[in-house]
Amino acid sequence: MLRNLCQRMFGRSLWVYHANSGGCNGCDIEVLNVLTPYYDVERFGIKLVGSPRHADVMLCQGPAMRATAAALRRAYDAMPAPKLVFAIGSCACGGGIWYDSYPVLGPVEKAVPVNYFIPGCPPRPEAIIFGVAVALGLVDKRIAPVQFKQLELPIPRYHPGDLSGKGDLIVYEKSEKI
Ligand code: SF4
Repeated sequence: MLRNLCQRMFGRSLWVYHANSGGCNGCDIEVLNVLTPYYDVERFGIKLVGSPRHADVMLCQGPAMRATAAALRRAYDAMPAPKLVFAIGSCACGGGIWYDSYPVLGPVEKAVPVNYFIPGCPPRPEAIIFGVAVALGLVDKRIAPVQFKQLELPIPRYHPGDLSGKGDLIVYEKSEKI
């Protein structure tokens, strides 16, 4: 549903507001890199604006900090609906290396509702463009859940439901190798 909304509302033009609530500027540089003529996201209709009042999307970098969370929330509230928030970088997605330091509240989700997460420290410009393009429905998602299986030296996995008694012994009837 969110993807349909994005396609309908923002498919051709997306004005972005760039907010750093306390990151190290590594992610800022990559976001600004995306907006430079080298990557030239304006060809997709993505344009940087200076005020949240003109923005469709907020690109958040850095964790939610005690000092900046309220300002970030005010900027979010100033954006007209419908609006999206992208958390860019490990700090914004989960607090990153600062997650347990005293001025940090945690991921930006603690201050504003986040719609999309683009992890990395910092994420490469290609990853940022790809994440935004997937969100807007410009490209298909190319990732899927994977299940890891240990082929060499498989580990037996036992389920309590498979326990049964044989004389004095409690044995597992079935063991599943993973
Ligand atoms: S994710 Fe890495 S590069 Fe980005 S703000 Fe945090 S520490 Fe800096």
